[in-house]
Amino acid sequence: DPQLNQNYTFDNFIEGDCNRLARSAGYAVASKPGGTSFNPLMIYGGVGLGKTHLAQAIGNEVKRNMPDKLVIYVSCEKFCQQFVDSLKNNTINDFVNFYQAMDVIIMDDVHNFAGKDKTQDIFFHIFNHLHQSGKQIILTSDKAPKDLAGLEERLLSRFKWGLSADMQVPDLETRMAILKKKMYADGIDLPYEVVEYVANNIDNNVRELEGAMVSLLAQATLNKKEIDLNLAKSMLKNFIKNSHKEISIDYIQKLVCEYFEVPVEMVKSKTRKREIVQARQISMYLAKNHTKTSLKSIGAFFGGRDHSTVIYACQTVEDLIDTDKKFKAYVQDIQKKLKMS
Ligand code: ADP
Ligand code: MG
Repeated sequence: DPQLNQNYTFDNFIEGDCNRLARSAGYAVASKPGGTSFNPLMIYGGVGLGKTHLAQAIGNEVKRNMPDKLVIYVSCEKFCQQFVDSLKNNTINDFVNFYQAMDVIIMDDVHNFAGKDKTQDIFFHIFNHLHQSGKQIILTSDKAPKDLAGLEERLLSRFKWGLSADMQVPDLETRMAILKKKMYADGIDLPYEVVEYVANNIDNNVRELEGAMVSLLAQATLNKKEIDLNLAKSMLKNFIKNSHKEISIDYIQKLVCEYFEVPVEMVKSKTRKREIVQARQISMYLAKNHTKTSLKSIGAFFGGRDHSTVIYACQTVEDLIDTDKKFKAYVQDIQKKLKMS
């Protein structure tokens, strides 16, 4: 199956206290898709903690034991995009039928449904159909279902039906085991004290851990040098240092429009439709707070408006943040995405 990445298996997934429940639930589901009470299985946790790896491993394991099962892995973002395309091309039925024919659906990063009410509606129906037919649903998310903002209540309540299992940051021992396994798989040899040093100092998530190791190796190969502890220390300094990229107003606009599923042109237009006005005001607010662009230029950018409009927009957004919990969650969500870029 082209959507599944063969590199993510149970075999190369290191088990630790941080992921034990999620891993064993995942394994149970893979052995008996649709046949356990873990339906849906929701795997949640922070960035780079192995959610995608584990979710993919479930799909690969099903395919290995039951090659006839139809398994689809799709990121929530891609699903949303496909939905928008199917609206445009008048192929909604094909879109829905495709997903409803699956035996196992793995949807990654469902927090990205936030604000996308139309896509949530469609997924709600697909979910119900699959669940009623005893098909397996696997979801990942950056938050527990109860903390997911911007998702419809009826969809959230479905997400809580099965089992929610969290993934935590691995402890030192698990981090070292992950590095060793990865090195072994890639035929790499790093001195023990270097591995220990990397695992000791990079403790946010697994992706950074692997990134540090890859970067160490790349630099060593380029410089034709053996990596000893001192070299690792000096190289890692650069890796840990955060490069703060500048956020552009274009990027803000793109992100906000994607988030609320509104066309970019509309935000710059004169329309006073509620959802467009909201996207425009949030974009202005973010541009004021995250770029060095002047109020005058921000106004000009969003359809030739003057600076008082920008001030009014920022005031409106601030008021709503104070009074409307759902709105506040939207803005925080978008801000988080901005910072990740
Ligand atoms: P997430 O989806 O939670 O952001 P990923 O699944 O993309 O995280 O994991 C990031 C990287 O870390 C991947 O390369 C993955 O293979 C690796 N990884 C995470 N957890 C483990 C683990 N327990 N064992 C082995 N590799 C892991
Ligand atoms: Mg992921």
